[in-house]
Parts: sequence; C-alpha cells; structure tokens
Amino acid sequence: MKKSFAIKIASILLSGMCVFQLAACETEGDSSSDGSESGVVHTHTLSYQAAQAATCDKDGHISYWLCGDCGKAFEDENGKKELDASKIKNEEALGHILEQKAEQIPTCSNVGWAAYEYCTREGCTYTTYQQQDALFHNFVNGECTNCDATSYSQGLSFKLNSEKTGYKLVGSGTCEDTCVVIPSEYNGLPVTEIEEIWCQGIKKIVVPKSVQIIKREAFQLTWTLEEIVLPFLGYSRTNLEPISYYFGFIFGYEKYEGKIGEEVPKGVRQYRDNQSVSYYYKIPENLKRVTITEDPTDASEKLNSCSMLECIQFDCPVQDFGTNFKCAVSISDVKTWCEGKYFAGEDRTKITELLINGERVTNLVIPEGTKKIKEGAFFSCKYVETLTIPDSVYTVERKAFYGGNTLKTVNYSRTLSSEVWVVKPSL
Ligand SMILES: [Zn+2]
Ligand SMILES: [Zn+2]
Ligand SMILES: [Zn+2]
Repeated sequence: MKKSFAIKIASILLSGMCVFQLAACETEGDSSSDGSESGVVHTHTLSYQAAQAATCDKDGHISYWLCGDCGKAFEDENGKKELDASKIKNEEALGHILEQKAEQIPTCSNVGWAAYEYCTREGCTYTTYQQQDALFHNFVNGECTNCDATSYSQGLSFKLNSEKTGYKLVGSGTCEDTCVVIPSEYNGLPVTEIEEIWCQGIKKIVVPKSVQIIKREAFQLTWTLEEIVLPFLGYSRTNLEPISYYFGFIFGYEKYEGKIGEEVPKGVRQYRDNQSVSYYYKIPENLKRVTITEDPTDASEKLNSCSMLECIQFDCPVQDFGTNFKCAVSISDVKTWCEGKYFAGEDRTKITELLINGERVTNLVIPEGTKKIKEGAFFSCKYVETLTIPDSVYTVERKAFYGGNTLKTVNYSRTLSSEVWVVKPSL
C-alpha cells in the first residue's frame, strides 16, 4: 500500500516539472494544418518549454508551449497563439571556450590520451578526450620493459649469510614456477649467493645482478632447463681457480678417468682437459640459450666446447670472445664488439648467426666512431646481406668477415683488402 502511494506522489511530482496540456484543435483558427483535410481532427499535445539562456552549442529562447506531435510552438497553453520560430530564439549559441591539453602516453599504471581540446565554460562538458587504456606489463627476465615493476618468483627459500649483509638462496621452497626469476633483494637485503635451486620441470632461471657467488652444483637438479640468465659465468665474479669458472661448474662436475673423445659419459656437455686430469660438466641436455647480463670476462674460455648452445646472448659490452664453438651470438654493443679480441681460424669461433639485442641482423651497420674491426670479429657470420662501414673505421683486419658469403652490398668509402673475407661479395 505504501509503495503505490509513493509511486503516485512521484508521478505527480514528475508531471509538475513538465506540464502537459491537451488542447483540442477545433475548427476555429488554423484548421488546415490540423488534419481537417483528411477529416481527422488533430489535438495538440502541448508541453511547457521554460526559457533557456544560450549555452555553448544551443541558442537561448523564451518560454513557450510546444506540440510534440506537429512541432508547432504556441505562446499560450491552449495552443491558440502560434509562435514564429524566429521569435522564440532570443540569443545565439555562445560557442565553446577551447583549451588544448597535451598528449599523455599511457603507462602500465596510468591511462593516457592523444592531445585533445575541451571547453572551460562552466557547465559545458564538451571535450575531444579519448582515453587510451593503461599498458600491460611486459616482463622480461623479471623486469617490465615499460615500467619499474618486477615479477619475481614467490616462495623461494633464503637464508641470511653469516655476515648478515645479504641472503643466499638455499632452495625452491614452495615455488613451482617453470620460469624462476630470483629476486635481487629479500627482506631488504641483497641476494648475493645461490646455494641451490630446483623446481619441478623448470625451464628457465634468471639470476639477478646482485648475486656474487653461485655454488658448485647449485643447479644440478635442473635437468629440464632450456635457458639461463646469469650475471657472469662460473663460480664467482672474482675467479678463484680456473676449474670453478668453467660455465658447467654450477651444474656440477666430476673427474673423468677415461680418455676424452673415446668414451663419452652420459649427460656430459662440457669438458675440461688438462695434461694430468680431465673433468666433465653436467650441463642439462636441453639447455640452448645462455644470457650474460653483466660480466663477460673470459667468456670464450668459460664457454669452451659448449657446442650444445644455440645462442649466447650478451646484454653487456663484450670485447673478448671466441674459441671453439659454433652458435648464434646476440650482442648489444656493436662498437665494443668490433674493437674486441677474437680468434679466427678453422676451429675457432663461428658465429652461425649474428643478432643485435635478440634480433637477427641482415643489414649490419657498424656504428659511427668505430675505429677498427678486429680480426675475426664477424667470422662465419651468416645472414648479413648489407654491410655499412663508416669513414671513422681506418682498419679492417684480416678475416673480419671471413666466410660471410651472404653479403651482397658493402658500403665503405675506403678499399678493403681480400684478406677481409674469403668469399667476396658479388658487388
Ligand atoms: Zn499539434
Ligand atoms: Zn562549451
Ligand atoms: Zn610495466
């Protein structure tokens, strides 16, 4: 009962705001437009139109009565005195007062917009603003390429070191990630050491730059590993003894009694052979990609005989590289690479594919300011079709582009000797 009463009240209020008036269009006055021709008498349905001041985009007008059916306007509520449209309008639309707003590029946490304009007149909502959604995080090795956000693995086990200056990773804890991204900080202190990590079915491990030491066999149970990101190769940044800085050290190694080359122990992926004793390193069978993010010192020596790798990526400048393996190499700093130290020869470095920041290079542009391209720098480098060498380069050493038989065009103002390549491009 209460409800229906309320509805009645509401409808009375509504009708008060917009008064409707039915006015019969009798035969008197202008009967022609009222449908008398067809014999039907039109009855105006009049509603009151209150006077309006002009706005940005609407003309101002006096108050009048309007028939919603025939569209005629009247001075009076009975629809007797018709009003001419020109007499209703009493003020031109004012037009917007426009201001410009500069564009805002969207970020991972904030929406953005293209440059737009809007009206500053009070009460006007005109704008050409169009919101651009916030971006999604794009996590690469635990860090978003668009913002400062990180996505580290959760649930790993850490232990405070004896000096209480940092943490060491001692186990996988409850982490079940297949891509384990080790945080660089734990409980406000840096993670400086990897003692052990193993997660079921782990495919990728990212070790942060804060880590100084990776223990022997730290990754010994990561049989399914396909990719690893390391700040350096081997046991520690300050190499203590040669054996501990072989790449395979972190996966575990053993003395090898047999003769290398004759009998190959199962699972062996890297050898270290010296006069008195041989070692083998137990690198996971599926490991194809190694990325070094900070210290590439002795990379050539440490990665010696790692022929299982398909790509070595340097996310840091590298100057010394190159014995005895054949795989794709991704570099980030071409100038440093050109001026580095390489070994060219039959059993030496063979770059099967050159990548710059992970992208295959077909058009190699040596950066301006490079002075020298060292011997063997791009030895056996496939897929490069166009080579551009700036005038700043005054020496191109022998075999710099040896075997680069995919080259079609070389842009260089000086003359290159035939020692630079074995197969000369057909220029
Ligand atoms: Zn009417
Ligand atoms: Zn406006
Ligand atoms: Zn982000």
